[in-house]
Amino acid sequence: MNFVVMKHFEIPFQYQSLHINRIKRIRENADKRKQDLSPSLLTFEHADLILARHFGFCFGVQNAVERAYHILEDNPGKNIYLLSEIIHNPEVNKDLQSKGLKFIQNTKGEQLIAWDSITPNDIVIIPAFGTTNDIEAILRQKQLSVENFDTTCPFVERVWNKGEKLGKEGYSIVLHGNPEHEETRATMSKISEFAPVVIVTNHTDADMLREYINGNGPDERDWNVFFKSRASKGFNFRKHLNRIAVVNQTTMLAEETEKISNFLKDVMLAKYGSENIEYHFGSTRDTLCYATNDNQQASAELAKQQLDLVIVVGGHNSSNTTHLVELLKKETPTYFISSEMDLLNEKSIRHFDIEEGKVIETYGYLPKREKLRIGLTSGASCPDALMERVMLKLLSFTDEFADIDAAIDRLEEQTNGL
Ligand code: SF4
Repeated sequence: MNFVVMKHFEIPFQYQSLHINRIKRIRENADKRKQDLSPSLLTFEHADLILARHFGFCFGVQNAVERAYHILEDNPGKNIYLLSEIIHNPEVNKDLQSKGLKFIQNTKGEQLIAWDSITPNDIVIIPAFGTTNDIEAILRQKQLSVENFDTTCPFVERVWNKGEKLGKEGYSIVLHGNPEHEETRATMSKISEFAPVVIVTNHTDADMLREYINGNGPDERDWNVFFKSRASKGFNFRKHLNRIAVVNQTTMLAEETEKISNFLKDVMLAKYGSENIEYHFGSTRDTLCYATNDNQQASAELAKQQLDLVIVVGGHNSSNTTHLVELLKKETPTYFISSEMDLLNEKSIRHFDIEEGKVIETYGYLPKREKLRIGLTSGASCPDALMERVMLKLLSFTDEFADIDAAIDRLEEQTNGL
């Protein structure tokens, strides 16, 4: 396997892009403290491609991808499994599968390969999202190493540590996340060792929780309908909602967590008064990871650029990518595609509609203009090589003979004020 060193990680060459790499280096060198969120402009005759300041593989994904390829290389002839998708990117997962890796579960936790068929001689890799205590127990029972093949992202572990600390201080945890997401299932499992946990996904859930906090809401039967499958074992809404603290899945939308957290704080304030609020509402900042923050802030900046459209590249089941789409589509027509193959031609695009939850085709996505302004970004699990292919395909529709190196030279001159 041909590896090229990228930051501290060795990412397989096929996922890298020399062009994107150069753009990122130009921006990083000019702004080491990452304070400039303005996008990167590549200008051509008939299109401006405007790339978000931050996009693509995050720390946790680079780490997981590097480890997975190394484990494959170092263990020829072994059965190597992944608990589920290593990251939410179909291209990376497909390539790992083609090299012999097998997924034990799908992203919803449904079994694809029976535990009985896995032996102590096999290797099971834990993905970047982490896993539950129950699954770790199964691995240990099978005498499989948990620690040696664990690619859990340290930013996910940070949420677990925060939840543990708050739990030990006596708070119950309200976890803002998607109960079906691997990370949220893992976080629920880890934190519930130390605190009662209930998952809320949106404001409707938080509203419902308010009724239970105030003790004037629906009864036990309704709790079982709304929250039982999303609450830790033994969660008693009569007892466990008088001291709460909010943490979140690392890839949620920052503004949504903030709204839910502020809302629940107000509920506790109204019930217990400002003199007692610290006891009843644990003070936390959100537990989003740095990449989610960077990418969301850079996308918010991208949204201000008066664009004709934005293309967001990533796996349709990727939480962080979906939230970028949510952010951007408020301002600009936004198309969520999984690869350059979705750019069918200059007239039609195939894209994922996050409201409908399905792939649709849109005609006329490139407006007729002398010069188009096209925004581009991607999720934390999208390889830069994929982003480059999307860029090239777009340019094949607008500027067939585009000189990308010259456009990056211009970006460099502009960035360095030359
Ligand atoms: S999105 Fe954040 S928490 Fe998830 S793998 Fe990347 S760095 Fe880690």
